[in-house]
Formats: sequence, C-alpha cells, structure tokens
Amino acid sequence: MQTISIAIHGGAGTLVKGMMTPQLEAEYRAALQKALDAGYKLLEEGKSAVEAVEKAVILLEDSHLFNAGKGSVFTADETHEMDASIMEGKTLNAGAVSLITGIKNPVSLARDVMDKSEHVFLAGEGAMQFAKLQNHTIEDEAYFYDELRHNQWLEIKDTDSFQLDHSVKKDSKFGTVGAVACDINGNIAAATSTGGMTNKRFGRVGDSPMIGAGNYANNETCAVSCTGSGEYFIRGVVAYDVSCLMEHKEYSLEKASDIVINERILKLGGDGGLIAVDAKGNIAMPFNTEGMYRASKSSNGVEEVSIYK
Ligand code: ASP
Repeated sequence: MQTISIAIHGGAGTLVKGMMTPQLEAEYRAALQKALDAGYKLLEEGKSAVEAVEKAVILLEDSHLFNAGKGSVFTADETHEMDASIMEGKTLNAGAVSLITGIKNPVSLARDVMDKSEHVFLAGEGAMQFAKLQNHTIEDEAYFYDELRHNQWLEIKDTDSFQLDHSVKKDSKFGTVGAVACDINGNIAAATSTGGMTNKRFGRVGDSPMIGAGNYANNETCAVSCTGSGEYFIRGVVAYDVSCLMEHKEYSLEKASDIVINERILKLGGDGGLIAVDAKGNIAMPFNTEGMYRASKSSNGVEEVSIYK
C-alpha cells in the first residue's frame, strides 16, 4: 500500500538546548505540530501533495515565530521582501516569486504562478501586479511588525552587514519554512517560503525561491525544501544535487540527503539543512547546524516534532 508522508521545517541554525524559555519552546513545537497535522489531514483525505505542502506552509507563514510571511525579517530599508516557491513532482511544474512585499501568503502566490500563469518565476513589481490580479490578500506594515525582528535589525542597520536569521545571537529567532509531502497516489511536492536575511539590500535573493537550489520535486527521485545560508545553497544547487545523486548514483533518499548536507555543502562552507521525501513516502531531515525546527509524520508510524540534534 502507498505510504503517505509529510515533513516540514521552520529553519535551521544555532539552536541549542536551554537557549529558549520552556514556554517559547512549547510555542514552537505547537506551531510545528499544527502545520504538520493540517498537511497530513489533507493527505489522509486523499488530497494532493501540492495541496498538503501549500497548506502546511500557509500555517507556518501565518505564525510570527518563523522568518516567512508574518514573521519575515527586516530589510535595510526597514521593509519586508519575501520569496517563495512550490514544485509538483509528477509534472515538474513549478512556480516561484521573489522580492514581494505585503503579500500575506507568498506560497499561495507561487502556486498561482504555477497554476495560473505561463511562467515559472515572477519578481518585484510584476509579481505584485500578478498578485493583485489574482486577488491575493495584502497586509499593511503593522501585520509584519515583530519587536524581536525589529531589534535584530536595529542592531545592524546602517552597517554593511546582513545577517542570516540562523547565525544571529542565541536569543534570536530563526526561520525560513518549508514542507515536502508524498500523497496517496505516490505523487510528491515541495514548497519553501522566507523573509530572507536581516538588513539585506540590493535586491538580494536567496535559494528559497530558486527551483533546484532551495526547492525541487520530481516523482522519479525526491521532493526537497532547504534552509540555510542561501548564497552557498545556490552555488551548491542543493535540492537538485540530492535528486541527481539519487538519479545518477542510485543513492537512497537518506544517503543522498546526508551526503549533500554533511559533505558537499559543508565543503563549500554552507550551513543549514533540508527536508526530503521520495515517492515511497520515505523521509529524510539532515542538518549540519546545532538544530533545525522540524516535524514529520507518515502512515507507517513515523511521528516526530524536534528542534535539537
Ligand atoms: N535560505 C534562506 C535565504 O538564504 C534563509 C533561511 O533559510 O532562513 O534566504
């Protein structure tokens, strides 16, 4: 029988036990559980992997805890610029958006690019025009305001430095979000959404909206969503690299994911992690940082919500 499965992440980084209050840790676990359960429920109802990953990512975007949607970090101009992507493993259809502002759920905009446009990747002003045509909810600055995120930004504004949400001081929050799933028909999908890096400028774009770098899905191999130092993940073409090792070297999902995160991307200097599924419903969630917000569930008994190594 076909195994259904889903895995989600909320970012990887310097997540060390004891660094958060028990209450904050409980909030993170609850937010992960909620997104996991919502995605899994759709799979149980026979809905597609695309539906499931979009739903899980919407819930993570709606939480202020993660660096995506509502919780996005501040740019150098004290605004928010978000990126998202989604890909369907059966058809290799994909949609992505970058440099968008005010959109409540960037992952749904990426899905509309996939389903309702002739294109794969829309950015900036044009992506915003498309969003308006598709009646996407636009929120004001107050919706995206978060005191901790603002403080992170205040510490480095007016400097040349920009900061990965992952590598900031220990009291900080982390978090690009993503989901991968395998549905009852053995179709897989991946979705990723992020606010990028604090104090970013010059239209900086990371790996999250780039098909093949931060996000990829192909029924023949795997569905992957990444989190980590985007510049390295782009250069390592990380998500597609996992797929290539499976396709050309016939590695298992587990082995391919592990080699990419713990050998190949580390060699380049990249830190972070990924979540992945294959069409048999297997799940892998490797990371080379201290921790990664992650959760997974499958019909063959897997259920996990974890933060630390
Ligand atoms: N990979 C994302 C980026 O570089 C950041 C993250 O994973 O938090 O934009």
